[in-house]
Formats: sequence, C-alpha cells, structure tokens
Amino acid sequence: MAQPIDLRSDTVTRPTPAMRRAMADAEVGDDVLDGDPTVRALEDRVASLLGKESALFFPSGTMANQTGVWLLSRRGTEVLLDAEAHLIHWEIAALAGLCGVQPRPLRGTGTVYDADALRAGIRPASPNAPQASLVCVENTHNGAGGKVTTLDGLRAIRDVAREHSLPVHMDGARLWNAAVATETNIADFAACADTVMVSFSKGLGAPVGAALAGSREAMRDAWQTRKRFGGGMRQSGILAAAALFGVREHWPRMHEDHERAAKLARAVDGAGGAKVVPPDTNIVMIDLPARITASELSARCAAEGVRISPWNATRVRAVTHLDVDDADIARAGEVIVRALER
Ligand SMILES: *Cc1c(COP(=O)(O)O)cnc(C)c1O
Repeated sequence: MAQPIDLRSDTVTRPTPAMRRAMADAEVGDDVLDGDPTVRALEDRVASLLGKESALFFPSGTMANQTGVWLLSRRGTEVLLDAEAHLIHWEIAALAGLCGVQPRPLRGTGTVYDADALRAGIRPASPNAPQASLVCVENTHNGAGGKVTTLDGLRAIRDVAREHSLPVHMDGARLWNAAVATETNIADFAACADTVMVSFSKGLGAPVGAALAGSREAMRDAWQTRKRFGGGMRQSGILAAAALFGVREHWPRMHEDHERAAKLARAVDGAGGAKVVPPDTNIVMIDLPARITASELSARCAAEGVRISPWNATRVRAVTHLDVDDADIARAGEVIVRALER
C-alpha cells in the first residue's frame, strides 16, 4: 500500500531536505553559557514579528506556556481560560503541578469563550473565594477546531482583563494560522497579551521548538525559569535554524493548509450523518452519528491508509499540514466518506 496519509496532527511533518541543510549550516554557540548566534537571530526575528521587546527559544510549547503562566500568576490563585484549553487538557495538570494555580474554565455562547464569559467568570471579591491572577487565551483554538478569535474579540477580552488588572498570556501555538486566515498582522494579535507563546513544530514544520515573547524584564525572568524547568539548551542554533527556515519558507504557504482543510470539510460534511465544524484554519473536527464511535471510524480509515485521531468518543480530528498535498486530501476525503457511509 502507498504511504499512509497522516492527518493526526500538524506535528507529524518531517524536516524537508532544504530545512535540514539550513540546520546543518547553522552557526552555533553555547546558548546557556554566552549565547548561540542562530538562537539569538530567531529570538530577534520572533520579537520583531510579534512586536514585543524580547523573545526566548524553548524546546516545547508546553514549557513556554508554563513559563508564561509561572511568571504572570501567583500560587494559590485562579487562572481564567477556555474550558477546552490546551493548558487544561494536554499539559498533564502542570497548572496545578508546577504553577500551583487552579484553572477556572470558561464557556461562551460560541465555540471559544469571549469577553462576556470572562466578565461573568471573574468572581466578586470575597475573603472566602479564590482570587484570579491571570487570563489565558488560545488562538487558534485547537479543541474548538482551529477556531480564530478575531482581533476585535481578543481586544475585548484584553479590555476586561485590564479593567480587573489581570495580565494575559496567549497560547499562540498556531497564531501563525490565525494571522494568515484573517489577514491580520500577527503583532496586532500579540499586542492583546503580556506574554505570547508561538510554536515552530506545528504548521511551520520545524522538528522542535516554540518561543515565548514579552517585555525585556519578563523575558529576563523567563530565561531563569526556562533553565529551572530543564530547558536550557546548548548548541540549539541547529534547532533555531529550522524554526527560522519554517517562518521564512513555510509560513507564506500556510494558506494552502487552510484551503485543503476547507476542501476536506466539504467532502466529508453530511456523509453518513456526520457533521463537520466549518474550519477557520487547518483543523477539521468531524462530529459522528451515534452508530459509529471515534475509535471505530479511525480504525476503519487507518485500514485504508488514512490516519485521523479520535478527539473524544463522538468526534475525530483531521489536520492538514506541509506533508499532505491536494491528491492526499482528495483520497482522504473518499476514504473517510466511505468509512462513514458503511
Ligand atoms: C501543540 C500545542 C501546545 C504545546 O506545544 P508542544 O510543543 O507540543 O509542547 C500548546 N498549545 C496548543 C494550542 C498546541 O496545539
């Protein structure tokens, strides 16, 4: 059988030959001791793109997220965030285990929480109630199906946070996608938060890494937190070179992933009674009819060479990325439809 078409995540991409060449040619130094020139170049590039004073390269988005929360929150307080946030569901309770904070999950009327839900979630001051110390936003929102919170929506959230003197951390693992999908300057999104995490190993196709951006002072503290969390890396310019390459070469083609996700969504929606969440970006969530579970559908598709992931019992996720082309998406659509109609 041909190579399986792997739509489980945009993290499955493998570095291209050109990206590997950029990694091999990278100028490097000891980044913990006195700096690595390619890491510094990446950090400068990200800070400038995001309109922040400073940025730091991290081994993972999870570590960068937790560092942002660590810096901005206080132990024994609440962090307000979307009920389906990556920070709640996919970081192994690090909010509690590392940062000592309690998540306060918010649900809006749409798929992602909004300023009204935030306002309603902030408790009136009481000596017996938890205090809030931080607001987090996720853009695009993975669990909602790659949904974009628009600039207006994000500004409204930031304004409510400010009214209550709460800082904002943005989980922008896929902020690249949000900017492309809405033709918004990525710095305008970033301006709505004090610290912003972006990932290089999703749609940009780098093998490893994320960045945290914010004020110079915050990033000085973040440098120490990163090291304390075990994220001090030495000749990491080899990895930073891949990230720089991804930003330069792969970000400009990201709209193709969104077009393919839309194509897949159109092909699958309605098949066998399935309902597709209309994708804003590169994530296609398929809600299943009662007669088939997510793991059954995933197994049927895998047997036909198409890999998708069960998201929960009644929903599967398919993600488009650099390593799939139009023909792959056409075939994936046929396989998923057949599996649904069986
Ligand atoms: C992937 C992801 C992360 C974590 O990034 P890792 O590099 O896998 O640790 C955080 N938030 C969101 C929304 C993600 O999709």
